[in-house]
Amino acid sequence: MATITDATVRVWATGQTLRSDCYGNNAAIECPNCLAYPVLLVAWKNQRGTSLKNPAICRTCGCRVHIVSDVRQAELHVVDVAYKMPTDTQ
Ligand SMILES: [Zn+2]
Repeated sequence: MATITDATVRVWATGQTLRSDCYGNNAAIECPNCLAYPVLLVAWKNQRGTSLKNPAICRTCGCRVHIVSDVRQAELHVVDVAYKMPTDTQ
């Protein structure tokens, strides 16, 4: 059974810690760009927020967030995320 975890969610590039609420392999995190809207991630292959192809999108600023660390964990402990703005190329 999934449990509420006291996971640490960090921005990969800066190490900034984001407020989060993680349950099993699901995470609601504050947007790493605008810090406003909670962004939902599911740490499971091909799910929302696991890659650049499958990003979680902030509804306030539109940035695309994805997990950089291992996404096959049953429970999240340390999560590194990266993000791109919709206007970024590559
Ligand atoms: Zn945002």
